[in-house]
This record gives sequence, structure tokens and C-alpha cells, in this order.
Amino acid sequence: MATQRMMALEDSSKHAPGRFYEQDGPVSSYFGKNVFDLKKMRRYMSAPAYDAILKARREGGSVDRGVANEIATAMKTWAMEMGATHYTHLFQPLTGTTAEKHEAFVTLKDGQAFEKFSGTALVQQEPDASSFPNGGLRNTFEARGYSAWDPSSPAFLLDGTLCIPSVFVSYTGEALDMKVPNLKSLQALSRAATSVATLFNPDVTSVGVNCGLEQEYFLVDDSLFDARPDLRICGRTVIGHTAARDQQLSDHYFGEIPSRVSAFMKDFETEAYKLGIELSTRHNEVAPNQFECAPVFSDATTAIDQNMLLMIVMKKVAEKHHFKVLFHEKPFDGINGSGKHCNWSLRTDTGVNLLSPGSTPMKNLRFLSFYSAVLKAVYKHNLLLMTSVCTLSNSYRLGGHEAPPAVMSVFSGSTLSKVFANIMSVDPDNSEDPSMKPDPIRMVSVIPEIFPDNTDRNRTSPFAFTGNRFEFRAVGSSMNAAAATYILNTIVAESLLEFRADVDALMAKGEDLGSAVLQTVRDFLLTSKDVMFEGNGYSREWQEESRRRGLESVTNVPDAYKVYLRKESVDLFKNLGVLTPAEVEARYEVLNETYVKKLQIEARVMGDICLNHVIPAAVLYQNTLIKSIQGAKEVFGDEYKTLCRSDMDTFRKISHFVNSLSSDVEALVEARKKANRVEDIAKRAKLYSTEVKDLMEKVRDSADHLEMLVDDELWPLPKYRELFLS
Ligand code: ADP
Ligand code: MG
Repeated sequence: MATQRMMALEDSSKHAPGRFYEQDGPVSSYFGKNVFDLKKMRRYMSAPAYDAILKARREGGSVDRGVANEIATAMKTWAMEMGATHYTHLFQPLTGTTAEKHEAFVTLKDGQAFEKFSGTALVQQEPDASSFPNGGLRNTFEARGYSAWDPSSPAFLLDGTLCIPSVFVSYTGEALDMKVPNLKSLQALSRAATSVATLFNPDVTSVGVNCGLEQEYFLVDDSLFDARPDLRICGRTVIGHTAARDQQLSDHYFGEIPSRVSAFMKDFETEAYKLGIELSTRHNEVAPNQFECAPVFSDATTAIDQNMLLMIVMKKVAEKHHFKVLFHEKPFDGINGSGKHCNWSLRTDTGVNLLSPGSTPMKNLRFLSFYSAVLKAVYKHNLLLMTSVCTLSNSYRLGGHEAPPAVMSVFSGSTLSKVFANIMSVDPDNSEDPSMKPDPIRMVSVIPEIFPDNTDRNRTSPFAFTGNRFEFRAVGSSMNAAAATYILNTIVAESLLEFRADVDALMAKGEDLGSAVLQTVRDFLLTSKDVMFEGNGYSREWQEESRRRGLESVTNVPDAYKVYLRKESVDLFKNLGVLTPAEVEARYEVLNETYVKKLQIEARVMGDICLNHVIPAAVLYQNTLIKSIQGAKEVFGDEYKTLCRSDMDTFRKISHFVNSLSSDVEALVEARKKANRVEDIAKRAKLYSTEVKDLMEKVRDSADHLEMLVDDELWPLPKYRELFLS
């Protein structure tokens, strides 16, 4: 009898490289073809309608209803010329993924069919809010929520559907998605950063965030994927013995890209280009089957929207190539997991990167101002920032020896560290002789000579400065990056407001601008010293050292979520206008709920696989063994004991693991039941994260031992070595 695994292996061996998407001419000739960008808007609508969009983009609001009909007609005309039949609002609910509800353009009136798309349909759709995670913000009797077009993100075409990037809010105005707080945090950050940037250049009127999101992912053959219920349902393997060879030879990173994969990459890049996504790099990652792509950075909203879109495109294109893309942070035990490094910087509307050291002392003072404000923000809210990336799936990766540690720190590189040490060592108030007072201009003039220092890289830091930006490495590969960036934006906004207030206070006391700024930089550096760490983030010493410094680490995800409810977090979001206390509470509920539900699904799948796949295979093999032992006894008499020693040994071992497996699965079911009876969601999540999770580890251990004992022919699930492309 052929197992599903054997059939899957045979199927997968037939999958060959191929190209399935047409590219007509050079990339430049089709780049952005499927986006209704500003250039097309200008062509398809009147000047007042176009100006209304520009105004909404500039001011971060919605478009004036008066011109909505005209904009909708323009969009419809363009979309239909491109072959579209449907439209949808595309939004980013708290599930962390995207949601869409397609509506046809076509409608009937008096038996006559015609295509219609009104301004109201463009501006607003009404999905049932109670069917999305809402953390109690929606009662089912008033379940309406609505999605509204976010004009700062252009509409685009995907599979014959006009997609309209949208926000998702409740009828009473609470945010039910990831986009709203992110847009609000960008506004708060712009205001705060502008107040500091104008100290150096009065012409600055706004500050935006630039984001470059590197995307790591795994690829698995779809036949093999289909033969593993855990991959299909959870996106990760809940059991599976490590392969004899995986990443220990370090030969995958930057290695030759397998031809099937390279064909897939070229195809999804083509589709991404058509959607205006400027992908610039592709390479193998450290683990087998692991790859990475990165776009050129853009403003944060575009970068995040495009990253969500890119994940959709990659999944769709993969189907044609008989691949499944795994965005899960840890699909396989024992090898590296995947992240979504978030490269983050600040730029003024005058075109200056505020995190780039400049060519003059004053520019460096500006750089130090922003840098020290980020440091203080990360120091003050270190646990909140770390918790912003905490999901069940990312928790399998964080704190491992290949992933960012579960405690926050900032890596600055040796050059900057020396500059900081120098600034911190001079006490401006302590100079008895005023002529000895440190000259800020002289102090910072040393920086340009030795900068930018790009060679100094530390891959073990969760938050590293890389020459002109910070790289937040702890973000998980499957996450909506907005979940982390809105928190980063908000804490930095708070810090910059404090920075400006401190400088103002010093200047009011008669200090000149240079001294006031340098003193504030020094204060900020001194306050945040404890979050600066240049060493190995994976080491045991750092675990101890960070504890000594009072930095909190995430040891348990539901425990970490509590940081959202701390007064300083609630006040932070409220004061900066990013989330109301009720919205924070709702998000806290949703995080716990999602954690529980995902773990519940994993535990169920695990139980099913063990009872219905693993144990039957093990028992089948025991039958073979016992028949052979019995036969030997009949033929050889007592001598069978020596002859069948190994078979009998294997039989006993299998019995041992089958017995512990079945009793642990039973205990797992009981632990889940017990947790499910707990009303309080945070307490339930805590039980899941401890008792349920601990039992899952025990179950896995027995199942993985059985994989090593049972006849290969009988093993039902594709093994790690088979899932990894050779
Ligand atoms: P590395 O492997 O060195 O981290 P990658 O090329 O994989 O580099 O990714 C770097 C990412 O950072 C790219 O998306 C790039 O566009 C982005 N990036 C570069 N400069 C900035 C900046 N000033 N602000 C934000 N992102 C940036
Ligand atoms: Mg990187």
C-alpha cells in the first residue's frame, strides 16, 4: 500500500522549473502597469478631482464626497479598460492578514445590464465587523463596521479585481485594523519630528518615515505540503525529526538559487513590478528552502501595503510553480526561522534623512538629536517595542539562537559608541571655568571623518543602526509590519516631543541652540545607556547582563501582552492620539484571543496527526516485527532470542513511545479543556502558553523518536529531508 507520502514524493519529482507569466519588453515598459497611480489619475479625471486626492494625501484625510463620484468613475473606466469585472476594499484586520469582499461592477436595471461604481462604493463598504477580531469593541447587535478608502495608497488591479486599499473602523469610529493606528502614528511622529527638525532648518514642514521591509520565506513543494496536515492547517510542522543535513555546512546562505526557485522568483517579481513594487534583491537565506527578497524602501504606508500585497502575489504565483510559500516564522524545528527586517528612517519634506550623519557639525548635531531620541524611546518602552512583535508564530523564533533575542537593545557600532561615550563623559555643568565648557561644534565635528561606518554589523541585535537607518530585526515574517511600526513611530514621537521641550527649557535659561541641543543629547544618552549593547545578543552573559540592567525580556507571550495595559503605554497612545484606552484594551484582548485560537488549532492538529497517522504507522510496523519474531521462534526455537534481539528491542522502544504519545495526547486534550473553561482570556492564554505548550513539546518528542524507529516505507508524513529541496 502506497502511503500518501510516497505518492506525494512521486508527484513532487515531476515538478519542473517553468515560467508562467508574460513579460513584454524590459521591466520599465510594464512597471506599475496595474496601479492607478497619480499619473493615471491625472489622465482619467478633472483637475479639481485630482487636486482633492492630492489634498487628502497631504493632509491624511479622506476625499471630499463631492468629487468621489468622479474619482470612482475614473477608477472604473481605467479598471474596465484593463479587463476588471469586480472591485473590493482591501483592508488589514487585526488577524494580521488582509481581507477583501469582492463586488461585481455589473448591475441590472429594467433587465438591462450595465457597469456601475459609485462614489459611495469607492469611499465606503460595510463588512460585518463582528466576524473580524474586534476585542469586544463591537457587539453583534450593532455589528456594522465600515471600510473606507485610504487615498494615501493607490488602487490597483489583482486578478481582474480593482482593489481599493482601505481602513477598517467600527461604526462608532474605533479602529478595527492595523492601518488606522499606523496612519495616526505617522501624523504624530511628523508633528513631533518637525518640531525638532525646525531647530536646524525652519523650512521643514513635515517628516515622514521611510521603510524597507526585507521578506524572508520558505518554499515547499505543494504535493509534499498537501501530504502534511500540520503545514496545511498551521503553516508549520508540529512534528518532524531534524534532517541529517540541514544548515550545518552553512552552504545555503547566498548559495546558488535552485532553478525551480529562480523561475518562481522571476515570475513573482514580474507580477510585483506590474503592481509598482520595486523589488531589488533576492537571495538564498541560511536555512534550506529559505529565501529572501527586499524592495527599495519607500514611505511607510506604501512599504507596508506593498509588503502585504507582495505576500498575496507570492502565494498566487507559487501555485503555478507547484510551490507553497511559508511565511510562518518557524515552519521547521532545528533550523533558522524567518523575519521581516524593518529598515526604518526619518526624512523631511526638504529631502533630508534625519538619521544620516552629515558633512557639517550642525548636521551632526541634528543627527545626534534624532538618534538619541530614538534611543530614549527604545529604552523607555523596551518591553512594549519587543512585545509589538510577539505573536504565537514569532515566539517560536524569538530568543532562539538564530533569531533576535527576546530582550530589546540597540546596536550602534564602534564609531558611534565612541562618540556617545565622549559626549556622556563631559559634564557641561561641572566646568568651573566657563572657557572650559565643551564646545558642541568641536565635539561633533569628529563624526564626519569616520562616518558612515557600514562595515560594523551585528546580526545578533534586535535593533541595529546600519549607517543611515535602524533595522528592527525582530519583526516576524508573517506579520503585518504595521503592528510593530506604529508602536515604534509612537514611542519615537513621544521622545522627540520631550527632546524639543528640553531644548526649549534650556534656551529659555539662556543657552544657545548648539549647547542646548548637545546637553539634551547628553541627557538622553545618559538616560538610555542601559539599552545600548554592542556584544553578542545570543550569549548567556547578555541574558544576565540585561537582567542586571533592568531590561525586561519576553519569556512568556501572554505575560508580555500585559505591557499594553500599563499606565505608561495607555497614556502614550492616548496622548499622541494613536489609540484610545478602549482601543488599547481591545487590541490586548485580540492578541490574547488570537494566541489561544492558534495554539488550540496547533494542539488539535498535533493530536490528530499522532493518533491517526503516527500511532497506526508505528503499530503496523510492530505487526511486521512481531510476525518476524514469531516466525523466527517457530523455525529456530529458543535461538530466536539472540537472532531477534534487535527486532525485540525496537518493538519495546516503539511500545514505550506509542504509550507515552497516547497518554500525552490525552493529557493535552485535558489541558486544553481545562484552559477553555477559564473565562478570563488573559488567564486562558497563560494556561495555553504554559501547560498546553509544555505538553505539545512532550508529544513532539515521542513522535519524533518514532519517526526514527518506524520503517521508512510506512511513515505517513513527508520527512524534513524530503521537504528540503536538494
Ligand atoms: P541588508 O541585507 O544589508 O540588510 P538588504 O538590501 O537586504 O540589506 O535590505 C536593506 C533594506 O533597507 C532595503 O529594503 C533598502 O531599500 C532599505 N533601506 C536602505 N536605506 C534605507 C533608509 N534610509 N531608510 C529605510 N530603509 C532603507
Ligand atoms: Mg537586513
